[in-house]
Amino acid sequence: MLGFLQRLLGRGAPLPERSYRFDRPLVLLQSDDWGRIGVRDEEGKEQLRRLGVRLGERPYDYYSLETAADVMAVRDMLKRHRDSTGRHACLVMNFLMANLDFVRMQAKDYNEIVLLPLTHGFPGQWSRPGLFEAYHQGIADRVFHPALHGLTHFCRRGVEESLAGKGEQRDLLRTFWKAETPYIHWRMPWVGHEYCAAGKAGFLSQEEQQSLVRHAAELFRQFFSVQPLTACAPGYRGNADTHAAWAECGVRVAQNGGEAPRPPHLDEYEMLNLYRTVDVEPSERGLEVEKYMELAGACFARGIPAIISVHSINFHSTLKDFRSTTLQALDELLFALEAKYPNLLYVHDADMYEIVTRGKYRSAQGKVAVQARADSSPAQSAWR
Ligand SMILES: [Zn+2]
Repeated sequence: MLGFLQRLLGRGAPLPERSYRFDRPLVLLQSDDWGRIGVRDEEGKEQLRRLGVRLGERPYDYYSLETAADVMAVRDMLKRHRDSTGRHACLVMNFLMANLDFVRMQAKDYNEIVLLPLTHGFPGQWSRPGLFEAYHQGIADRVFHPALHGLTHFCRRGVEESLAGKGEQRDLLRTFWKAETPYIHWRMPWVGHEYCAAGKAGFLSQEEQQSLVRHAAELFRQFFSVQPLTACAPGYRGNADTHAAWAECGVRVAQNGGEAPRPPHLDEYEMLNLYRTVDVEPSERGLEVEKYMELAGACFARGIPAIISVHSINFHSTLKDFRSTTLQALDELLFALEAKYPNLLYVHDADMYEIVTRGKYRSAQGKVAVQARADSSPAQSAWR
């Protein structure tokens, strides 16, 4: 811990990175974008149409916001599954802790960004009865594990610059905001990602990131009554400054995207880095349960956890029913994994941290020992 603090303060030699392999098939589910609003259901879509925006070209045109029923359906699906210890599957849900406060922004003629913390509900005419209770129900049932995505998904500085520019970008933002939709990323990639502006501007400064992470972590504590232990940068755009800011707020696990499977590793901040290995995104492409099984098998053969990535859009239902297909695919995949790997363990990010640092974790079913073997070869070259 002392070494970690010293490195946080910029003192002390960096530790060599240690990557890990495991003696049991471990399965994690990680999911981004919870709590983040998009198009305000059919009404918002119609409003946008009247303002000249035709939706329907890509899946994210149908990104709205999960409903209580969507969340409960995910919970019920996870509860149908048990690992070799009898524990249910668990979804790590990365939350955005604020949305745009369209009512107050309208009063300022949309010349300024005003945030509405998730703790204050949803803005304007957005309505999601029972949604917060549904999140908390899944957490109480131990099938959801809340995690930190950020304060906003877009880069605030980038959007403020577009507003100040008084050009087409500003007009487009104001059109969307009038329909109580913050933006649609593929239509306006210049909004960037929270810690990284689009284009040449790149990553925000250490101070800027620290202030955003502190604010988001504080709202997270208010909303969930715990501090975040795991985090994923919006768009996976995080750097060493992001990790330092997370570490300072008590985050111990950094979630990363991944193309080739990489073993988890501890970095210089003693932050456990996890890499997603199986993309299940039925909103984007067809069902490929056999392919997912192959990918998971390849991970287990190398002693690496199968980390399944499935974004929240895949559970949405109000503008398009993505939910039914996704639940069916996940159900099928998890049953197939349980059948093929009788010693399978469903774990979440905080359990992984316990396994790596203590060789065991605790669930409602009791203590479970898992051997974590430290790899001397650097994580980056593990697959070469
Ligand atoms: Zn995201």
